[in-house]
Amino acid sequence: MTVYLIGAGPGDPGLITVRGLELLRRADVLVYDRLAGPQLVAEAPAGCLLVYAGKRPDHHAMTQDEINAALVRHGRDGGTVVRLKGGDPFVFGRGSEEAQVLRTAGIDYEVVPGITSAIAVPAYAGVPVTHRGASTHFTVVTGHEDPTKGGSDVDWPALARAGGTLVLLMAVGRLGAIAEALIAGGAAPDTPVAVVASGTLPEQRTVTGTLDTIAATAAAVRPPAVTVIGSVAALRAEIAWLERRPLHGLRVAVTRARVQADGLSTRLRELGATVLESPVIRTEPIDGGPVDPGAYDVVCLTSPNAPRLLLDRLGGDARRLAGVEIAAIGPGTAAALREVGLVADLVAERAVAEGLLEALDGRIAGRRFLLAQAEGARDALADALRAAGAAGVDVEPLYRTLPERPAGADALAADLVTFTSASTVHAFAAAYPDAPLDAVRGVSIGPVTSAAARELGIALAAEAERHDLDGLVEAVVLAAARRATALHG
Ligand code: SAH
Repeated sequence: MTVYLIGAGPGDPGLITVRGLELLRRADVLVYDRLAGPQLVAEAPAGCLLVYAGKRPDHHAMTQDEINAALVRHGRDGGTVVRLKGGDPFVFGRGSEEAQVLRTAGIDYEVVPGITSAIAVPAYAGVPVTHRGASTHFTVVTGHEDPTKGGSDVDWPALARAGGTLVLLMAVGRLGAIAEALIAGGAAPDTPVAVVASGTLPEQRTVTGTLDTIAATAAAVRPPAVTVIGSVAALRAEIAWLERRPLHGLRVAVTRARVQADGLSTRLRELGATVLESPVIRTEPIDGGPVDPGAYDVVCLTSPNAPRLLLDRLGGDARRLAGVEIAAIGPGTAAALREVGLVADLVAERAVAEGLLEALDGRIAGRRFLLAQAEGARDALADALRAAGAAGVDVEPLYRTLPERPAGADALAADLVTFTSASTVHAFAAAYPDAPLDAVRGVSIGPVTSAAARELGIALAAEAERHDLDGLVEAVVLAAARRATALHG
């Protein structure tokens, strides 16, 4: 059978190749390193045997001999064996040694190259490894030689003379000695240098300087880091992009239920945030038996959870809604309707009851309404419809919200905590009973949620003007800007 030596890319899980992901998704055995991120490991199918091969600068969970032996053993057992390595398997990855061992053992292998950190990490920091007029070549060098070799195999004076761009991997901690060797070899002491730690990840951090200053300025940098030496490093001032995103460097907690968290988390990540998914509630469907939409003129769905659950209660047959007007509260609910093949006849722009009344624009009197919503939802909508002369208003609870024990990321470690409903605020306080709530900086989706937060002593950094996810994301960006002003003036 075949062992696949796959490059995972430099950290951002989107930077694995199509071929690599395809194989990973059908792996029977996955042998992975620390630099192959947890989001990629999560792509392995259920039932896949996960083997952590370690690889930290200080200690190895498995020695290379043990890794080799494991690859041979699993390779012989058959199935799809994936060896997932950070960056490219053949760039300081020992992938070639593993290939040699497999070859000797008579086991087939395939090499799936990856995007190496040597090029991608500088790119994410706005540093091109070549640039017309500035650098015609780049050299990738290890700053951490095989400790079993005596002396230095790297000819630093020759590298200094060659010019161009130097990319150092595994050099954190030796930058001072390396810079000295390069200057001694003739490199200009004012050659620009950029050190990029945790590149391509939301935690990416870049420190810049020159050959004669970098050891001091980068002293606090933690590995993994890529160091770029050469005039291209100065282009960062112009080309940097990731670190300029409005939420870069900020940890933002998402407390809503896991099934709902995706849309919000994705948007926050795209703006540069490190998202801590710490659901404090979960939703549980209520099995209230079949629903008869034929008895109503209008069915109102008040949350993105509702469309799929309503369809379940219709026996999965959307035709039963034929002839009934479908009203959605908020664009998120309208989008969830489309996902199940239904189109809302009217969409309340603002995700509050008043928004729906506006959207119905007087077409309420004499009509029969079904509200498909959460158990215990506010009565404001039903009351308002009745007051406007509805011939009947029935409420069909489709799901209930239950507290979730915090098992995900620790929301208290976040710089900002998002709250999408009053129930998440209460569940948050219950989930972290000993937490100093006055130290939490909340961002709320609207006034009802804000009131619940203030009552518990949670300080609000911002409140959404539009009471939906887009509005909440805008409020997070505003809170981040206020925070930056407070910190840096
Ligand atoms: N095969 C890998 C390199 C493995 S050696 C590749 O092609 O990228 C490990 C070194 O890679 C680290 O010490 C660091 O210098 C670099 N590295 C890997 N991932 C990195 C990241 N996300 N940010 C910064 N440096 C990284």
